[in-house]
Amino acid sequence: TTPVHVVGGGLAGSEAAWQLAEAGFPVVLHEMRPVRGTDAHHTDALAELVCSNSFRSDDAEQNAVGLLHQEMRALGSLIMASADAHQVPAGGALAVDRVGFAEAVTAALEAHPLVTIARGEVAGLPPADWDSVIVATGPLTSPALAKAVQELTGEGELAFFDAIAPIVHADTIDMSVAWRQSRYDKVGPGGTGADYVNCPMTREQYEAFVAGLVSGDKVSFKEWEASTPYFDGCLPVEVMAERGPETLRHGPMKPMGLTNAHKPDEKPYAVVQLRQDNALGTLFNMVGFQTKLRHAEQVRLFRTIPGLEQAEFARLGGLHRNTYLNGPKLLDGALRLKAEPRLRFAGQITGCEGYVESAATGLLAGRFAAAERHGAALAPLPATTALGALLGHITGGHLFFEGEGPRSYQPMNVNFGLFPPVEGPIRAPDGSRVRGAMKAQAKKRMLTDRARADLAAWLAGQ
Ligand code: FAD
Repeated sequence: TTPVHVVGGGLAGSEAAWQLAEAGFPVVLHEMRPVRGTDAHHTDALAELVCSNSFRSDDAEQNAVGLLHQEMRALGSLIMASADAHQVPAGGALAVDRVGFAEAVTAALEAHPLVTIARGEVAGLPPADWDSVIVATGPLTSPALAKAVQELTGEGELAFFDAIAPIVHADTIDMSVAWRQSRYDKVGPGGTGADYVNCPMTREQYEAFVAGLVSGDKVSFKEWEASTPYFDGCLPVEVMAERGPETLRHGPMKPMGLTNAHKPDEKPYAVVQLRQDNALGTLFNMVGFQTKLRHAEQVRLFRTIPGLEQAEFARLGGLHRNTYLNGPKLLDGALRLKAEPRLRFAGQITGCEGYVESAATGLLAGRFAAAERHGAALAPLPATTALGALLGHITGGHLFFEGEGPRSYQPMNVNFGLFPPVEGPIRAPDGSRVRGAMKAQAKKRMLTDRARADLAAWLAGQ
C-alpha cells in the first residue's frame, strides 16, 4: 500500500500518524525541525509543547477538556498515553514533564514498524502523487506551505492572526437588564431582527468602562508577532479606547438604532452588543471586543457591563499569531479540503485551540484517513461527545455565519457550549430534580454521562 503522508510532527501530526500506523497503514511523517525551525519550538522532538506544560483539567465529569482526555484514552491516543506516563503533580490538572513527554512520543513513533519519519520541510503543496495527506503544520506553518494553501483556498480563507472577542455562555446573561434586538431591527439572512443581545450603559458607566480599558493590565506582543502582517482590520478594544473617549461610542459600542426594551424612554449612552456564536445558540460573542487585556482583568472589567455581572466566559479575548483555515467553509465532515479532498487538515490549522484539541483532531484525521484506506467511511461521531462537539465546531458549527468570512470563525477550546444542550429538567444521577446552586454542576454531569454512553455505543458499533 502507498503510505499516507502526514505533514507536521506536532501534537496533531504525531497522533494522526500513530492512529494510522496502529490501524495497519504505512505512514510517512514529515517534520521540518531541525532542518528548519519555528519561532516557538526549541527542540527537534516530535510533539514539543511550545509553552505551558499543562493539558488542563483531567476532570471528566465537570470539565469538557477532561472529558476529551477520557475519550482520547478510549481511542488509544499516543499523546494521552505519553502524557499519563510523564505526569507531574498539578492538582486536578494533567501536567507533564515536557521533555519526558515529547521523548516518549518521538520514541514510540520511531519504533513503530509502519512509521517513517522524514526530516524536512514540505515547502509548497504536497506532490500530486501523494494521494492521501494530513496537513498538521500548526499555528506556525512554514511560509512556503502557508502561501500554497492560501492560493488554493483563497486569500481571505487563511488567517494569520486570531482576534478573539470574549465568548459568554448565553444562560449567564441577565436578560432582565439586557434585551434582544438587531440594530434598526434589521433582518439579515437567517435572522429575526432580534439577533443581538444588547447591554445598555449610562454615561457614567461608559466613562468608567473606557477608563478601565485604558488603564487595564495588558499582555504585550512578542517581537515576531508584532511583525506579522494582516493585523490592521482587528484593533484591540483597548487601543480603540486609547484613541479617545468617544471612539468606542462611535464604533462597536454605538447606541444607534437600539431601544432598551426594559426602559423604552431611556436612551442608552452606549451599548455592548453580543452576537450568537454557534448554531445551538448557547454561546454569544462580544462584538468588537478582541483584546490583549490579561484574562483576570477581562473578567473583572467585563462583569461591570450591565447584564454581564454574572457572566461566565466560554473563552476570553485574545490576539495571537496563528495560521488557520476557515474550517466550516472549507472542510468537509471528515476534515478534507472540499476543493482538494486528498488533503485533510488537523490540529490548530483547522481553527481548534490548545494542545489537547489539536491532538484530538489529529486522532480524528488519522482515523478518517485509515477508514478511507479500508474503503469505508467512519461512522459519524455523536455530536454529544467531546470529540463530536469539537469536530462539529470546526466543520460546521459556525455555518450560521458563513456569509461573514473567516473573521466570524475564531479558534476555540473545547467547552460545554459546543454540546447540544440536555433536554428536560436537570436531574441528579438518582433521578431527583436539581435546583439552585447545584444546577450547573448537575447539568455538566448530565452532559458528560450522555457523552460517555454515546461514545460507548459508537465504539461498540466499530
Ligand atoms: P504544532 O504542535 O505546532 O506542530 C506543527 C509542526 O509542524 C511543528 O513541529 C512544525 O515544525 C511543523 N511544520 C510546520 N510547517 C511545516 C512544513 N511546511 N513542513 C514540515 N513540517 C512543518 N496551547 C495550549 O494548550 N497551551 C499553551 O500553553 C499553548 N501555548 C502556545 C504558545 C504559542 C507561542 C503558540 C503559537 C501556540 C500555543 N498553544 C498552546 C496553541 C496550540 O495548542 C499549540 O500550538 C499546539 O502545539 C498546536 O498543535 P499542532 O499539532 O496543530 O501544531
